[in-house]
Amino acid sequence: MALKLCVLGSGSSGNCTYVATEQTRILVDAGISGKATEKRLHSIGVDISTIDAVCVTHEHDDHRSALSVLSRRHGMALYGNSGTIEAIERRERADLPWNIFTTGSPFEIGDLRIEPFSVPHDSYEPVGFAMDCDGARVGIATDIGIATTLVRERLRDCNLIVIESNHDESLLRESARPWALKQRIAGRQGHLSNERAGDLIAEVAGQALRTVVLAHLSSDCNSPELALRTVKNALDTQGLGHVSVRMTYPDRVTDLLEV
Ligand SMILES: [Zn+2]
Ligand SMILES: [Zn+2]
Repeated sequence: MALKLCVLGSGSSGNCTYVATEQTRILVDAGISGKATEKRLHSIGVDISTIDAVCVTHEHDDHRSALSVLSRRHGMALYGNSGTIEAIERRERADLPWNIFTTGSPFEIGDLRIEPFSVPHDSYEPVGFAMDCDGARVGIATDIGIATTLVRERLRDCNLIVIESNHDESLLRESARPWALKQRIAGRQGHLSNERAGDLIAEVAGQALRTVVLAHLSSDCNSPELALRTVKNALDTQGLGHVSVRMTYPDRVTDLLEV
């Protein structure tokens, strides 16, 4: 097995995903507390001291609140693009030891090749990641308003995709949230709905796709059942019923998935 992945926590309360190869162990985002990160890694048999690095998608709190702790207390290297780093430094004044990557340019951490790609979201320089090792490929894209051509291209040929399935469109419309917030969430720089996630996955799914992991679910404008049903239906319609669709949780880990 070339790549292992476990979503340690997902949702607007905090996001963190563990990705590992034979030689390399990283986290994507650092949005759950240092203590919770340590506990949840322990629950899948991983000691936090063995994590090499954190790669950050964007500066929103639910993706970066534990960065200082993970860097200072646990010695993880930090990777971000200049827009995200600038936005974090401005807010935190933390002066963290960053490794800067360029959006669109692949880089390597050990035997893991990481390609950050641009996604539309209301932050400075948000990215998703495609990661490769020994012929295995995973794609991670949360916090995306719409699935652009670039997003679709990068998620093609993946064995495993972690994709945002944020809200049910009618639940969002009918919710008591202020109009402006609804517009933000549903907008081109907001969050991907179940329906759009299903369409995207059905379009990019290739021979290699085995598993789809639904992430960043809204707690009041979605339910795990609705998200699963919508994305499964979209896959079934395309004759892709064999693809496994998994759920993520704000307060607990997924299974440790292998591709
Ligand atoms: Zn965000
Ligand atoms: Zn988020």
